[in-house]
Amino acid sequence: MEIKPDEISSILRARIEGLETGSADLSEVGTVLSVADGIARIHGLDNVMALEMLELPHDVTGLALNLEEDNVGAVLFGAWDSIVEGDTVKRTGRLLEIPVGEQMLGRLVDPLGRPLDGKGEINATEFRPAEFKAPGVVQRQGVHEPMQTGLKAIDAMIPIGRGQRELIIGDRQTGKTAIATDTIINNKDQDLICVYVAIGQRMSTVVQFMRTLEDAGAMENTIIVAAPADEAAPIKFMAPYAGTAMAEYFTYQGKHTLCVYDDLTKHAYAYRQMSLLLRRPPGREAYPGDVFYLHSRLLERGVKLSADLGGGSLTALPIIETQASDVSAYIPTNVISITDGQIFLEPDLFFSGVRPAINVGISVSRVGGNAQTKAMKKVAGKLRLELSQFRELEAFSQFGSELDADTQATLARGERLVVMLNQVERHPLAVPDQVASIFAGTGGYLDRIKTDRVQEFLGRLLERLHAEQAELMARIGASGELPEADEAALGEAIAEMIDDFGANFAADGSPIEEGESDRIVSETERAEGPKAVAEGVAA
Ligand code: ATP
Ligand code: MG
Repeated sequence: MEIKPDEISSILRARIEGLETGSADLSEVGTVLSVADGIARIHGLDNVMALEMLELPHDVTGLALNLEEDNVGAVLFGAWDSIVEGDTVKRTGRLLEIPVGEQMLGRLVDPLGRPLDGKGEINATEFRPAEFKAPGVVQRQGVHEPMQTGLKAIDAMIPIGRGQRELIIGDRQTGKTAIATDTIINNKDQDLICVYVAIGQRMSTVVQFMRTLEDAGAMENTIIVAAPADEAAPIKFMAPYAGTAMAEYFTYQGKHTLCVYDDLTKHAYAYRQMSLLLRRPPGREAYPGDVFYLHSRLLERGVKLSADLGGGSLTALPIIETQASDVSAYIPTNVISITDGQIFLEPDLFFSGVRPAINVGISVSRVGGNAQTKAMKKVAGKLRLELSQFRELEAFSQFGSELDADTQATLARGERLVVMLNQVERHPLAVPDQVASIFAGTGGYLDRIKTDRVQEFLGRLLERLHAEQAELMARIGASGELPEADEAALGEAIAEMIDDFGANFAADGSPIEEGESDRIVSETERAEGPKAVAEGVAA
């Protein structure tokens, strides 16, 4: 069969006319121009929106990120290496959405909500946008409820409120994750839904983390979103937004949620990698210009909603890893300036045995004070001051010169406060236990105990308070207050315990006669400053 030239031209004309009348909408379909490193350049898709999901062959999903004049740069999720030049790409008309809902609780999922824990399918029926505009000031209210971490050092001096954004910052292996773990465990039965976002960690570490929570019984109201180290950069980039969307589902129902982002340093690395592959211009430290916006739009979603909107909250605990404690690097300064305070962890303190290794001097909580329980405020008021005085004098005392009684008393107190604040991981304390421990320190009771026996004493003290003063402890726990009468009762119970502790558990094992409780004061203190020590004891 021969085709005559005029027939061809009429066929072509008909096709072209058909296009113009809209029988095939070119703006909805595109073609892959090139694909490499999980990034595709796509021709066509004239009307595509930023962050719109794209459909590619082989079940690959794309996310349109760069909208350029003649092409669209998109990151690909899934088996992107099966995509080749010339493949067709379709618009979906939907911005990136994350499956959310109750079914997510107790699960380990990837940032697209697919299960990673082998516990079966998640049939989510609801979706939320990964990127959600943070509520404005009218939709918010001040932070006023405490988000207890269960760690004495934090709840006493750097209190965090529900809806606050508090940065945990420190070098590698300084106990950053441990703080988040303890916080989640401490809130297992406190109406707080936790989302832990693991970015760029080894999968084995994430699984270990999940086991820890399961063992502590804290996994039921927790979601773990994992983008492990071997995942593609776009997945890591997505992870914190996905985790936040899963938390927001509950927040906007009026519930309280906590999001831990562990850690945003690796998130920034992933974003830098992705941006360079998308050929966005590199700026300082090769990060793209909008790396501040990357974290600010995420953390702005931390919120305490107004009563009209249900009063839900989303507390954000981002984690940043520093190099050699340098907080003035690019990403650390960015995130410090976005958050409402920071908990600064130091390797020196960590190695000298302070756990959690918090540098109290430069750690702050700008809004949490309003959320602290009254009882804690009362007993911990002087704590920060006494510790900083101790740190200052500690440096001097190392010169070994003669010290006056006042200085000795400050040093003795400080030493005991530091030990008192120590807490092994995975043993978060309830409010009354914290109040009792801290009151033993700030009230001067511990001054009569040898420093190396303070922890032992506190352990026994709490045991006894729960056995003999259960009512008092329950009252402090329920009301969060410490009226004069209760304060006196608590002080009396602690003083009594000090006497018994001396009598029953003297360090050298020898029994101590009644009234001879100064035997439990360390030898040096007795020799150098009995007066100073005695003055510290509340009458
Ligand atoms: P990375 O930089 O690797 O993420 P990290 O800063 O998150 O480390 P963790 O993993 O939380 O640090 O803790 C480091 C080590 O210190 C762990 O072995 C942990 O068991 C130990 N550790 C942390 N906090 C405490 C604590 N309060 N008591 C005892 N050990 C602790
Ligand atoms: Mg960690």
